[in-house]
Amino acid sequence: MKNKNRYSVIIPMYNEEAVIQDTYRRLKTVMSKTGEAYELLFVNDGSKDRSAEIIRECSYWDPTVKLIDFSRNFGHQIAITAGMDYAAGDAIIIIDADLQDPPELILDMIAKWQDGFEVVYAKRTKRSGESRFKKWSASLFYRVLKASTEVPIPVDTGDFRLMDRRVVDELKRLPENNRFVRGLVSWVGFRQTALEYERDERLAGETKYPLKRMIKLCIDGITSFSYKPLKLAGYLGAMLSGSGFLYFIYVLYLALFTDATIKGWPSMIGVMLIFNGFVLLMLGVLGEYVGRIYDETKGRPLYIVRESYGTASPIQDRTAMQQVRHYE
Ligand code: UDP
Ligand code: MG
Repeated sequence: MKNKNRYSVIIPMYNEEAVIQDTYRRLKTVMSKTGEAYELLFVNDGSKDRSAEIIRECSYWDPTVKLIDFSRNFGHQIAITAGMDYAAGDAIIIIDADLQDPPELILDMIAKWQDGFEVVYAKRTKRSGESRFKKWSASLFYRVLKASTEVPIPVDTGDFRLMDRRVVDELKRLPENNRFVRGLVSWVGFRQTALEYERDERLAGETKYPLKRMIKLCIDGITSFSYKPLKLAGYLGAMLSGSGFLYFIYVLYLALFTDATIKGWPSMIGVMLIFNGFVLLMLGVLGEYVGRIYDETKGRPLYIVRESYGTASPIQDRTAMQQVRHYE
């Protein structure tokens, strides 16, 4: 059977009442230009404001509007994931709710998709209206990530992108809990291409990514796609024990052939500090990975939906889904 919805647009939202109406209107204008069937899939990530009500009202008279209403805030990456689970389109587009990503670019993405690309991601050449710290830290993050993994995760690229149905079906089979969606998209492969754009200022409201969340995203990105931090701890440890050993020979020499050893207290402290610091660092790195292993073994669902409007429920058990795929 031919799919009814050609395009699914996923819009994660968390306390976006100030912009959501405008976002809806602009998406509507853009999507109607395609001349094909589409759905606007809003995922309300536990907003405490009227975001969900505004969208629900729209859904009463606009059948293209759908709403997945989470029982609480589960986070941006999970909201996107839920959107993909529910999306019915042949091409799935992810866009932020705050109009920082220009919806008009979707038409260009669709053109690329029609040329045969299965993933079209949007690469930011400029970011306006964001603090210097945010730009700097984001840029650093993408570069560290790139240096630490073999997976070709493009730099300066957020989640604003178009994906073919096949790509989304593959993503749905990945069971991990600590999700870094843009990395997973790179990991699944397929024909990928970039479109460049200038990122606008937020239309209204403020960022929902304070430093703490940015750090979480950053650590998720790096630990999900790289063992390098663990290896780095090993290298550092080897180097430090190496130099520690050399220093010990020197100390032995001092003790045996000179009478200067009584002054050794500062160096003792120095060595202890370095080593203790290093052991703690290493424990921290191990902790990050062990914590993630724990998360995955718990096998909790990624999210809980309070209610959904206008969509059919998808299969939610990721492991079950994997098995179904396996025996197909
Ligand atoms: N968002 C979400 N859940 C969260 C945080 C953010 O669904 O816990 C949404 C938010 O509403 C927006 C998108 O994710 O549509 C990106 O967030 P934001 O614009 O605050 O991030 P920034 O652009 O500042 O990096
Ligand atoms: Mg934003």
